[in-house]
Amino acid sequence: MGYPKHWKKLARDIKEKADWRCQKCGRVCLRPGEKPPENIKPRAYNLQVHHHNMNPADNRVENLICLCSGCHLGYHRGGKGNVSPGQLSLFDMSGFS
Ligand SMILES: [Zn+2]
Ligand SMILES: [Zn+2]
Repeated sequence: MGYPKHWKKLARDIKEKADWRCQKCGRVCLRPGEKPPENIKPRAYNLQVHHHNMNPADNRVENLICLCSGCHLGYHRGGKGNVSPGQLSLFDMSGFS
């Protein structure tokens, strides 16, 4: 699906470098295996790696930024008017985090 085999490790490295914070709003997200407090929505604290130029094949470190799922969604919504169903599947990246 356009993601390289080492994507999982790469994404994790990027997140660790970012100190598990969203690079837009600064929200500290959950590390894998970390349990969220009872009263929050865990999904909002899911850190995702975003391709700055929207090209998933461009995995240069300078093209990758960490965003919480809220900001990530915003980036894609804001970037390109209508979001097609194909693009929406991008957000279901819990398996990558
Ligand atoms: Zn954020
Ligand atoms: Zn993205």
